[in-house]
Amino acid sequence: MQHFINVVLPIPLEKLFTYRISKAEAEWLTPGIRVAVPFGKSKIYTALVYEIHTTPPEVYDAKEIHEVLDQRPIVNPIQLKHWKWIASYYMCTLGEVFRTAVPSAFLLESETLVLKNKDIQVNENDLRDDEFLVFEALQHQSSLKVNEVATIVDRKNVLPILNRLLKKSVILLKEEIYEQYRPKLVRYVKLGKEYLSEEKLESLLASLTRAPKQSQVVLALFQLQATQKAPIKVTDLEKASNSSKAVIKALVEKGVLEEYFIRTDRVVYEGNDGNSEIKSLNPIQKSALDDILQSFEEQKVSLLQGVTSSGKTEVYIKLIEQSILSGKQALYLLPEIALTTQLIARLRDYFGEKVSVYHSKYSLNERVEVWNNVLSMEAKAQIIIGARSALFLPYTNLGLIIVDEEHESSFKQFDPAPRYHARDAAIVLGNLHGANVLLGSATPSIESFYNVQTHKYGYASMNRRFGNVLMPDIELTDLKEQTRKRKMKGHFSERLLEEITETLDANEQIIIFQNRRGYAPIVECTTCGHSPQCPNCDVSLTYHQYRKQLRCHYCGYHMALQETCQACGSPTLDTKGFGTEQIQEELQELFPNAKTARMDLDTTRGKHGYEKIITAFEQQEIDILVGTQMLTKGLDFRNVNLVGIMNADSLLNFPDYRAHERAFQLMTQVAGRAGRTKKRGKVIIQSYNPYHQILKQVSTNDYMGMYSEQIYERQQYKYPPVNRIIKITFKHKNFNILNEAAEWFAKSLRNVFGESVLGPEYPPVARIRNQYLKNVLIKINRDWAISRTKDSIKKIERSFNAISQYRGVRVIYNVDHI
Ligand code: ADP
Ligand code: ZN
Ligand code: ZN
Repeated sequence: MQHFINVVLPIPLEKLFTYRISKAEAEWLTPGIRVAVPFGKSKIYTALVYEIHTTPPEVYDAKEIHEVLDQRPIVNPIQLKHWKWIASYYMCTLGEVFRTAVPSAFLLESETLVLKNKDIQVNENDLRDDEFLVFEALQHQSSLKVNEVATIVDRKNVLPILNRLLKKSVILLKEEIYEQYRPKLVRYVKLGKEYLSEEKLESLLASLTRAPKQSQVVLALFQLQATQKAPIKVTDLEKASNSSKAVIKALVEKGVLEEYFIRTDRVVYEGNDGNSEIKSLNPIQKSALDDILQSFEEQKVSLLQGVTSSGKTEVYIKLIEQSILSGKQALYLLPEIALTTQLIARLRDYFGEKVSVYHSKYSLNERVEVWNNVLSMEAKAQIIIGARSALFLPYTNLGLIIVDEEHESSFKQFDPAPRYHARDAAIVLGNLHGANVLLGSATPSIESFYNVQTHKYGYASMNRRFGNVLMPDIELTDLKEQTRKRKMKGHFSERLLEEITETLDANEQIIIFQNRRGYAPIVECTTCGHSPQCPNCDVSLTYHQYRKQLRCHYCGYHMALQETCQACGSPTLDTKGFGTEQIQEELQELFPNAKTARMDLDTTRGKHGYEKIITAFEQQEIDILVGTQMLTKGLDFRNVNLVGIMNADSLLNFPDYRAHERAFQLMTQVAGRAGRTKKRGKVIIQSYNPYHQILKQVSTNDYMGMYSEQIYERQQYKYPPVNRIIKITFKHKNFNILNEAAEWFAKSLRNVFGESVLGPEYPPVARIRNQYLKNVLIKINRDWAISRTKDSIKKIERSFNAISQYRGVRVIYNVDHI
């Protein structure tokens, strides 16, 4: 009898691939173990065992695997089920889910580039012979492909060697280099071996009489050793002996002190030990908690709607406490951007080392570490706080999932596949574990609230701020009138300026929201009307004054700002519209004594860019913070009393059925940053259209009004949540081919789905990176069997792929597109 495995390859293959294994391997291999396999002519991939069987493939000869990479599964059966659901629901392949789900350090393949880790001192004795060969080659060559490594060590399969080297931090993978990862080494000291006896120590101290500083250090070390058992950090010794680095260094050189390094677990948290008492809830919070527990009893997902600063986080913390008391794991999901030190510190205050963090700004190794901790159910990974990718960790017994800020559209992965919604995938995961799932928001998404209305979800609400702090007072100003009366200074109305002045006088802080970065979105010649466009995309270039550049926000193309019009040569260039840069500049002119800062994509690059600004603002080193929607996410600043929204119209006038819902959420969330402690906060919204229904609803905090109106429209036009939507995007560099192809596909879809097919239509930006785009929408009745619908679509795609002139056209599915 022959033995085979079906494996998941981390590439978009529709089917699992079959390899041959030995009888011995068949006896102990289980799903979730990684194997190195050959693929195509010369590729090597890391694949995941999916099933073990004895049926040879029909259409090809199964190759043998190269090697088994794990002793035990790194992916468990629940995960595989979950992946399968994601692949089928979001119309992608299991391989695409695999690639997204695991840290890329788990996916070494022939094309992976490995580099030397310059930050680590390698002890060559710790390396095995084959490891040493690779290490040595990297001394002469800056990077090596996995294939090249194979030649160096003269064997086919080198992934195990590379995995070992990765574990020892001797090598890095190419992509990691951008994150400038450094293993965290802490420096410790102890007394040199020779001085361990009391006599020796005495004679040492005697010999140091002429070096009082040095003897002070030795005494301090002695004292520290007496009082604490733990190793002594150099920094602690410095403090305790009131001396300098130089003195300690001198002692080390003399051999009196011995220096050593301990590599701290990078994801271990230093600082608070989790001893803070969990706050007792106030009556509103208690009753919300009861409602939530009630719906958990009924095994329903629960939605907690609590106004900004009502104390939702404290309710989550209670639930987490209960969950981990019962020995289960808890997952706290947040939009990437809301994952601030503020919140992490708050959780660690309560739960200390039980909290681990997982998100994309973490380096590869940090992610691997968290993965392994969750896999082996370590206590320090009992509570995971993370962005959407934290959904994929190898949980074995999740008891609770919290999806905070559930309305956030960044929970949906846009590119690449799987284009999944982390909230919805979390609910499915919760089901697989029998875990409770809580969604939380001040401004729930229409679909979640609809699920409450239709009794699919349970519901709890808190409509007062904690401590009875009043909701901010929201005032609308009419930009049309202000302009007519010539009351505007730059882009600021008289009212907003008055309030800024008052707030600064009271030594309080201000947030100004403008949902556009850069200086101005359009540069235009006032003589001929020409405005510079991106050569690769159908958009105008945005002016960034700081670098005197015109930049494309879609592809990153940039060029220096020209002095004269490129079309007619006139020096009459003017800007239209405004972004955060321009607002900050105006503020600096209007309030030269105030300290301003900007928070947008341009100022927050790098691992800590975002944190730095938040910390500076928290510590009141900044008076006015200008920013894009990054400002909206769950930040809790004590001293902010004024929020200004520069231009509400740009949020409202968006050609999308969700524009109004989004505008309501965004403005309510930004407004929620004001007056969170004692005083009632103030919010000024500037608009040319202050009588707009949504603005009224924002200013009166009328979520129900907004919901009723929006759901009525969705019902009228058959948009989600009433129907499902699948968006199919076609992409090609040739305009005509794209149009024909999209037409063909849409027509075939219409044959099956009739009127439910919309398009093809160009998106607002119809060409990105030289690829033309066209969309088709299919509105799917909730009563239809979704899997049959998808099968029909896939069938059409297969016929489509058989047409030779459409071969290069990419077809991208986005299920529940938002
Ligand atoms: P939300 O998550 O709804 O925006 P938070 O949980 O951040 O609100 O609570 C707002 C503020 O009120 C925080 O500073 C929090 O520490 C405080 N707070 C909330 N609940 C309690 C409580 N039960 N006891 C003491 N302070 C609380
Ligand atoms: Zn011109
Ligand atoms: Zn571009």
